[in-house]
Amino acid sequence: MAPVIYPYTNFTAVEQLCLERGEGIYVYDTDGNKYIEGMAGLWCTSLGYSNTEVVDAITEQLNTLPFTHTFGGKTHEPIKQLADKLRDMVPVEDAYFFFGNSGSDANDTHYKMLRYYFNAIGKPEKRKIITRERGYHGVTVAAGSLTSLPGNLAHFDAPVEALGVLRADAPHYFTGRQGNETEAQFVDRIINNLEEQIVAEDPDTIAAMIVEPITGASGVIVPPEGYYEKLQAVLRKHNILVWADEVITGFGRTGNDFGCTTMGIKPDLMSFAKQLSSAYFPISAAVIPGWMYEAMIEQTNQIGVFGQGYTYTGHPAACAAALKTLEIYERDNLFVHAANVGDYLQAQLREAFTDHPLVGEVRGKGLIAALELVSNKTTGASFDGGLAGATSQKFCQDNGLILRAVAGNALALCPPLIITRDEVDELMDKLKAAIDSAY
Ligand code: PLP
Repeated sequence: MAPVIYPYTNFTAVEQLCLERGEGIYVYDTDGNKYIEGMAGLWCTSLGYSNTEVVDAITEQLNTLPFTHTFGGKTHEPIKQLADKLRDMVPVEDAYFFFGNSGSDANDTHYKMLRYYFNAIGKPEKRKIITRERGYHGVTVAAGSLTSLPGNLAHFDAPVEALGVLRADAPHYFTGRQGNETEAQFVDRIINNLEEQIVAEDPDTIAAMIVEPITGASGVIVPPEGYYEKLQAVLRKHNILVWADEVITGFGRTGNDFGCTTMGIKPDLMSFAKQLSSAYFPISAAVIPGWMYEAMIEQTNQIGVFGQGYTYTGHPAACAAALKTLEIYERDNLFVHAANVGDYLQAQLREAFTDHPLVGEVRGKGLIAALELVSNKTTGASFDGGLAGATSQKFCQDNGLILRAVAGNALALCPPLIITRDEVDELMDKLKAAIDSAY
């Protein structure tokens, strides 16, 4: 073992898989074994593993100006071009962008932005944030406190009260329904719960609610029809901002430009990272609407600078990577491609697994999906302790397919957006063989 502390391991973990190179949707380990990267790394390598155009754009930028910081308004062309380009893409009016390096730091930026904004407009008490059970928003202290997965909160005394974090129900009908409740009844119940909670807390103390349009790390939850419409109606009624965490769902993943488009969300704030540069260089963005920016201008001289900035905020090479990635998405019509191949993948998964005795639910949209593995198909009972998820992940890997067990017994799929139908067929063959041989 090299003296590395690997993320999300305990300290007895041993090294698992040493990857050496990649090509298209495939990666190869140091023994020469070939795998389909069915998770696009960690929901991020949308253009696959051998996109020389992005590499060339990064190289050119590194050869020209490898770094300048952007504190205090010092700037460079790629950051300005990127913000202009993104403004034309996002479903946020007259958007402004604060760049960072990771999804976690984008969410932290919003945390501070919201406080700064409400201080600026004279409502300092409007500071709590609603998050959802099973939400994943990163690992830094603020973003980690918004994350609701037990492993992210345990051991760290996450300062959820100090940060004003409130938790609402997860919108997962399959695991959250009560008795014979229909989907519509389930939605009404959890939306009523939310409104009761808002009223009990006092809406004037709540700044925003953060949602992943479709969750990733908590098992690819696609909320039922009508959920977001009702959710947004309640939030608007109580003047609570809608904050969309698009770190996974942004840039074509769900078959549209953003998960908000797919799910009918009109966001006030957005966070994204990952597919913004197809992971060729780390970059993230916290997005705010023009009206929020304008409101802060008036007061900013009184309340002082926005005390936020990473050394690598707007790193020139990261901006160059993002610009080229966005250009390729557009030129190659990749979001439409993802929608078409995504429909095909979703259909194949449902055909193969809807009646499978070990699969309780097949879910997803576009090129993100999950199988919920169950020990009892009739009751939907889960296997203990994530055993099935971990086992099936291992069997997939043995069959040359990298997938990821998430939320215990869900097996997630999130292949690069460039995947073709033939490659989906190959993925499906490996997946069927793995699930069948696992039990
Ligand atoms: N938000 C969502 C929805 C995510 O899925 C993730 C990571 O997977 C993050 C935030 C955190 O991003 P990062 O790991 O880049 O900090």
